[in-house]
Amino acid sequence: MYDVLVIGGGHNGLVAAAYLAKAGLKVCVCEARDVVGGAAVSEHPFGPDYTVTSLSYVVSLLPPALVRDLRLDRHGYHVFPQGPYFAPRADGGHLRLPDDPARRREEIERFSSKDAAAYERWDSWMGELGGILGPLLDQIPPKLGSRKPADLLGQAGLLRTLRGVNVRSAVDVTRILTDSIADLVEDYFDSDAMRGVLSVSGVIGTWAGPRSAGTAYVMLHHHVGETKWGFPRGGMGGVTRALAEAARSFGAEIRTSAPVGRIGVTEGRVTGVTLETGEELTARTVITTAHPAISFLRLLDRRDLPEDFVGDIERWKTRSGTVKINLAVDRLPEFRGVSGFDPDVHGGTIVLAESLDDVEGAFQDAVAGRPAALPFADVCIPSVFDDSLAPEGHHIVSMFTQWVPHTWHDSQPGEELDAYADRVVARMEAVAPGFTDSVLHRQVIGPYDMEHEYNLIGGNIFHGELTPGQMFHARPAAGYADLRTPIKGLYQAGSATHGGGGVTGVPGRNVVRQVLKDRRRRR
Ligand SMILES: Cc1cc2nc3c(=O)[nH]c(=O)nc-3n(C[C@H](O)[C@H](O)[C@H](O)COP(=O)(O)OP(=O)(O)OC[C@H]3O[C@@H](n4cnc5c(N)ncnc54)[C@H](O)[C@@H]3O)c2cc1C
Repeated sequence: MYDVLVIGGGHNGLVAAAYLAKAGLKVCVCEARDVVGGAAVSEHPFGPDYTVTSLSYVVSLLPPALVRDLRLDRHGYHVFPQGPYFAPRADGGHLRLPDDPARRREEIERFSSKDAAAYERWDSWMGELGGILGPLLDQIPPKLGSRKPADLLGQAGLLRTLRGVNVRSAVDVTRILTDSIADLVEDYFDSDAMRGVLSVSGVIGTWAGPRSAGTAYVMLHHHVGETKWGFPRGGMGGVTRALAEAARSFGAEIRTSAPVGRIGVTEGRVTGVTLETGEELTARTVITTAHPAISFLRLLDRRDLPEDFVGDIERWKTRSGTVKINLAVDRLPEFRGVSGFDPDVHGGTIVLAESLDDVEGAFQDAVAGRPAALPFADVCIPSVFDDSLAPEGHHIVSMFTQWVPHTWHDSQPGEELDAYADRVVARMEAVAPGFTDSVLHRQVIGPYDMEHEYNLIGGNIFHGELTPGQMFHARPAAGYADLRTPIKGLYQAGSATHGGGGVTGVPGRNVVRQVLKDRRRRR
C-alpha cells in the first residue's frame, strides 16, 4: 500500500511526487507512456544522434524556489537564456526587439517612431499588470461565492494579495482579462511589424484569433514568470528528467508504461487505482494530473460524481488547432539582411508573422474548417546553445505553429497536415533562402497526435483553454479550483487546474500543501 499514487508523469505529477517523497511519504507515479515528461519531453524521432524537444520548448514559469527546493541543478537542470524577438519579413527587412532599450528603440524606429516611444509605455504597463496578477498564479484559488467561514478567510486572503490595486489598475486588470490582444496592440502601435509580433503571444495555444475577447490575458500569462524564457539543457525533457531524478532521490517510485484504467472509489472515498493490465495499487490518496476528461469522464464512474461537476467537465473547452513541427537541419538558416551567425537571431525567438491581420486570417481559415493558408510560427533553434541536441554543425529547429481546424484531433488528416507543414517551411524559405534544402528530417505533430500519443485531449496544449471563464476559481470546475475533487482523497494537479497552462509546476507544488493539510486534519 502506498501513501499517495500519482496518475501521470508529466512535470506536475513529478513535482508533486518529489515534494511528497521529500516529506517522507511512500509515493508511486503511474505514467501511461513509456517515458516520463508528458508535454515536456525530449525524444529521438530522427535516431539517437538528435534530441528533439517534442512539444513544449522553452521554460520561464517554473518558480526558482521550486528548482531550489527539489535541488534540480544536482540532476542536470540548466537553462540557457533565449535571445530576443527576431521577426524576418518577406520583403527582406526584419524587426528585432533586443533587450537593450536604446538599441530596441532604434530597431522599432525603422518601422515607426511612434511605436518606438510606445514600446516603453507598453513594457512598463505589462510589468505593472504582471506585478498585480503574477502573484495570483502561485495561489490556491479561494471558493468565490461561498459563505463558509474558511472560504471567507480565503477570499480575504485574495483581497490582501490584490491590495495594491487602485482605481486605475482595477480598470487595467479588467481590460487585460477581457480585451482582445488586438484591442491592446492596435491602441499602442501603428506598424504591422509590431502588431504582428506582439499579437502572437496572445494566441499561443489558443483557439481564438487576436481579435477574440480574452486573448490579452494569454499574452500576460506568458509574461509572469520570475525568470527570462530559456532553453533547458537536453530540451524540455531535461526539466522532467531532472524532476524524475529528484523524485527518485527522495524515494519516490516512478512506473512508465503503466496506464491507469480505473480510479477505485468506495462510498465516496478513493481507494487506489487499477492499471490497464488489471494490476491493483492501493492508497488513501490519489492525485491525478491527467486531462480532466480522462480523469473524471474515463477513469471514474460518473455516478460517483455530482451532476453539476460532471457538467462542468463535459463543457470544458479544450481546442487549439496547434501543430508542432520539429526539424533536423544540416546548417543554420541564413536570413536575408543578416550576415553570418548572430546569437540574437539564431538563438532568439524567430517569429513568422508579419501583421496582426496575417495571424487573424490564419485563425479565420481554421474557423472555416480549413488549415491556414499562411500559418504563423514561433521558431527557435535550441541547439545554438545546447550542443547535446545534434551532431556538430547540425541543428534542431522547433516550429510552434497555428492553425489547423481543431476538429483534426478526431481523425488523422494525413496529406493535408503535411501540406500545412510544407507551407510553414515555405514561409521560412521566403525569409531564409536555402532553408528547405537544409532539412534532413521532419516530424509533424498535429492535434490528433497530441490527443492520441500525448494524451492532450482536443489537442489543447494547456489541458484546456486559458479563457476568462476557465481561469482561477473556474479552473476546471465550480467549487474545485482548490485542487480537491468531489471524491474524498482524490486530488487534481494537471495543467487544467489554476497555476497550470505551461511548465509552471505550480499545481504539482500546491496540491502537496492540500494533501499534507488534509492528512494533518485526519489525524
Ligand atoms: C506543442 C506544445 C508546446 C508547448 N510549449 C510550451 C512552452 O514552450 N513552454 C511552456 O511553459 N509550456 C508549453 N506548453 C504547455 C506545457 O507543456 C503543458 O502545459 C505542461 O507540460 C503540462 O504538464 P502537466 O504535467 O500538467 O500535464 P502533462 O504533461 O500532459 O502530463 C500528464 C501525463 O499524464 C499521463 N496520462 C494521461 N492519462 C493517463 C492514464 N490513464 N494513466 C497514466 N498516465 C496518464 C500523460 O501521458 C502525461 O504524461 C506546450 C504544450 C504543447 C503541447
